[in-house]
Amino acid sequence: MPLIIVTGFPTSGKTTRAKQLHEYLTSRIQSTTPEGATPKYRLHLISDQTLSISRSVYDLSVLPAHTRSANASEKDARASLYGAVKRVLSDKDIVILDGLNYIKGWRYQLFCEAKAVRTPSCILQIGCSKERAREVNEARLSREAGGDADARKNGDDAAAVEGAYEPANWENLVFRYEEPNPMTRWDSPLFTLIWEDGEQQTKQVFDSLWDVVAGDLRKVVKPNQ
Ligand code: ADP
Ligand code: MG
Repeated sequence: MPLIIVTGFPTSGKTTRAKQLHEYLTSRIQSTTPEGATPKYRLHLISDQTLSISRSVYDLSVLPAHTRSANASEKDARASLYGAVKRVLSDKDIVILDGLNYIKGWRYQLFCEAKAVRTPSCILQIGCSKERAREVNEARLSREAGGDADARKNGDDAAAVEGAYEPANWENLVFRYEEPNPMTRWDSPLFTLIWEDGEQQTKQVFDSLWDVVAGDLRKVVKPNQ
């Protein structure tokens, strides 16, 4: 595969699902590998967190209006993500890219990259209402205000908790979000999980995702299709 692009609003549950998918794929790869054989796929999880990219790179509210189109820090962040994907992506490497991935042109660029190495790509959209996602961010903000940020830095139990977005940054990212359109080549196949989806539904979605990117339904990718 195979490149799996996770997308959704900020604090909508993307990382939670990306980790579930990582676990699912780990066991799926294991179970399809004969004993003693080399697994058919290597698995990679790439995100802002794995590359130490701060939430603030997305924050346009700190820039003067006339420089908004040239948000260098976000461009740099995208360049690092792109580099990290490009370094490992191949026909034998499954890459889960966990992030906002909210710009349609960016998803197109990733789709082209996958095509260039002749491997399939797909989108996993995390559906979550704005209100719910906002609540998650607010809860994180108040936790941080309560001094939990230090605990996170020290790598204790709260280490799994990601940082919050500044409220204006959060609102702006939701406003800028470009919904995937499954009618376009680069946003398809499109898989969706919503917040409420339980174990069974999640497994079903992951099963069909596997079929498309690594299983029987996998198509041979030609570079100029
Ligand atoms: P994102 O990566 O989009 O910022 P996270 O995956 O970090 O979002 O999730 C934000 C918070 O919401 C976490 O505390 C997580 O435990 C919780 N969460 C995420 N998805 C679900 C879900 N489907 N059901 C219940 N809680 C969830
Ligand atoms: Mg996340």
